[in-house]
Amino acid sequence: MRANMSLDVTAIKRDFPILGQEVNGHRLVYLDNAASSQRPRVVIEALERYYERDHANVHRGIHELSTRATRAYEGAREASARFIGAADPSEVVFVRGTTEGINLVATAWGYENVREGDEILLTVLEHHSNIVPWQLLARRVGARLKYIDIDEQGRLRLEQLDELLTERTRLVGVTHVSNGIGTINPVEEIVAAAKRVGARVLVDGAQAAPHLPLDVEALGCDFYVFSGHKMCGPTGIGVLWGRRELLEEMAPYQGGGEMIEIVELERATYKRPPHKFEAGTPNIADAVGLAAAMDYLERIGRERIQAHERDLLAYALERTHEIPGFRAFGPERDHSGVLSFELGDLHPHDVGQILNDRGVAVRAGHHCNQPLMRRLGVTATTRASFYLYNGRDDVDALCEGLRDVIEFFS
Ligand code: PLP
Repeated sequence: MRANMSLDVTAIKRDFPILGQEVNGHRLVYLDNAASSQRPRVVIEALERYYERDHANVHRGIHELSTRATRAYEGAREASARFIGAADPSEVVFVRGTTEGINLVATAWGYENVREGDEILLTVLEHHSNIVPWQLLARRVGARLKYIDIDEQGRLRLEQLDELLTERTRLVGVTHVSNGIGTINPVEEIVAAAKRVGARVLVDGAQAAPHLPLDVEALGCDFYVFSGHKMCGPTGIGVLWGRRELLEEMAPYQGGGEMIEIVELERATYKRPPHKFEAGTPNIADAVGLAAAMDYLERIGRERIQAHERDLLAYALERTHEIPGFRAFGPERDHSGVLSFELGDLHPHDVGQILNDRGVAVRAGHHCNQPLMRRLGVTATTRASFYLYNGRDDVDALCEGLRDVIEFFS
């Protein structure tokens, strides 16, 4: 029997206290989830509980609270591994978020493995955080950056892989799901091609981990990164997953307490991964909050969340079809719940402003995707992005708001 795929959005919405408010005299319609999601009460309570009952520093102490905090922190690591299908929790490094995870790899792996004349292959869909760290590395070591282009629908042009991948390619960096236009990329295919030339693959999962079922072992990539705040978790916490053998051979990213074994005046030895990459007191409470968020999402089921977002996108495309001047970006198939669009020649900031007057929160701008915007021939788009607590009534509010925008400027 097929599991019931539909979500009880009304009940889910009640789990998120922030969504119960009015903004500018209207019901808050929160459609800025690609930038940051909201938190359910269980996550807020997990943070509160941790601070009220369990907090102490981890790993070093022998007293009860330190034991509890360590158990909670390492438990969050195990939960993170399960959440992404990783067999070994020691392959999970806690970082501040996707940005820090990519910088960690570009620095700790990159400086050891990328040399003058080597190549790093990215895509024009990348967020700045999967471009700039590689630019910094490439400039320092004299490597070259190359980019996979997109077709007219915004899908990666995979036929370019044969030409772009060479024996000099050391790393392929690709976003699992585009934050700019919602394209879901065929990561397995890209990994298979990269492996043929011996390149490592880093996948930016910031827009994927919160929204779809995930199995990093099946994807076959070498590194996978994502942020807690986009998946109902706290800000300031995220995950870098890396293959054990790569983490073992990588140099530390930062030095300090917690990451060492023995320190002498001139040298030090380091702990094994993941601790080698977690210098200083870690973000214990937010790791605990992240585990609560993962548990919440798992109980609902990411398959159902993905199906729900797909349904909302289809409904939104159907409804916006009738709006004069509305043009959506992104592919017809393999499109996440990110709806980026233009409304005639109106500036996205004006569109976003008027929607805000009606309580509808969307994002307007380049979405940290300046190369993609340039490729699309626009400076900015308006972006509505859906999550598990959005319903068709939210799409209706967006459409009504867009009609108001048109009327305001006509
Ligand atoms: N990569 C993608 C695809 C994103 O959407 C984002 C955030 O919008 C990031 C990376 C950066 O994430 P963070 O700011 O949480 O480090």
